[in-house]
Amino acid sequence: MERGKWYGAGLAIAVLASAVGAGEMPRQVPLPAPAVAVESMLPTAGDHVPQCAFDGKPDTYFRAGRAPKAGDTFTLLLAEPAKVKRVEVLTGKPDGTDALESGALEISADGKAFEQAARLESGAAKADLAGRAIRAVRVRATADAAAPLTLREITLDAEPPIPVFAFPLEVRLDYSEVPEMKEWCEHTRGLVEQWYPKIAEALASEGHTPARRINLTFKKGDRGIAGTSGTNITAYDGWFKTHPDDCGAIIHEAIHVIQAYPQGSPGWLVEGIADYARFWIYEPQTPRRRLNPDRIRYQDSYQVTAAFLAWLVESQDKTLVTRLNAACRKGQYKSELFKEYTGKDLDTLWEEFKKSLAKK
Ligand SMILES: [Zn+2]
Repeated sequence: MERGKWYGAGLAIAVLASAVGAGEMPRQVPLPAPAVAVESMLPTAGDHVPQCAFDGKPDTYFRAGRAPKAGDTFTLLLAEPAKVKRVEVLTGKPDGTDALESGALEISADGKAFEQAARLESGAAKADLAGRAIRAVRVRATADAAAPLTLREITLDAEPPIPVFAFPLEVRLDYSEVPEMKEWCEHTRGLVEQWYPKIAEALASEGHTPARRINLTFKKGDRGIAGTSGTNITAYDGWFKTHPDDCGAIIHEAIHVIQAYPQGSPGWLVEGIADYARFWIYEPQTPRRRLNPDRIRYQDSYQVTAAFLAWLVESQDKTLVTRLNAACRKGQYKSELFKEYTGKDLDTLWEEFKKSLAKK
């Protein structure tokens, strides 16, 4: 598409896709429970997503789309009980406005039954728990409030330490056109939530903050597999009903959101980096497509370019993809960068890569 970058999954090679019945769970990537989950009874305003309340950064915050009513809660749920020495909550924006007037800080040993640990005063509360084992912490409004709920940070001093959300994310899922795919769509959203921070970390570059909100929409149709425009991912049931194992195609799209390159980087490299992150970070166990050195060009995109990048990382420069990614983000990619990074020009490197394939 013209302006909104639309990167279709195009050639996506469904190596493992064995056309098992629609509705069956993908099997190649297990989904371990995250250490902590956020449950908000309130909708999100803008990109002030719930995970911003537990990201260790004082300048970001969760902001609700409406003022809380008495009884509304915002909960941090731990996968395993942790021994908590101290818990603190700070509400309101960094400029001090919109603090929660009437609220309680509550804790739970089992994640279900809660008790009050402290009452909010001037929008903040803290409690010494002396190492009690807890499964959940929540903020509860104790009266109807005037301002939207705004949570700057919940701080847990726990043993073992609970990792904060380094890359806060909220994935808005819409499968209204294909309700029969509910379970699969929710599973896939879980994979995106789990892998987004890992890949954002791998593709981090100075001064760049990845998007915090993604719209993931599943539609009826077979016009393609999936595509991404900005932070909107659209996927079609025609492909995923027959290839339920191909969750990696959705991860590939989420990587485009992380890339967030402005116009100007060559498409083959954009797709190559996306497939590199997909096949070498997310699903390294997936068998690779066999490449015939006589029939490929580095501009072939997707897995061909990804395999070239992987070889470059392995044999020439461990930081090559990281640096190319940073250059693309700044709109400063040029083919001379390959020579700058490795001492050899792109064509020479490509010939060496093909020779390495022939030897296999
Ligand atoms: Zn793509």
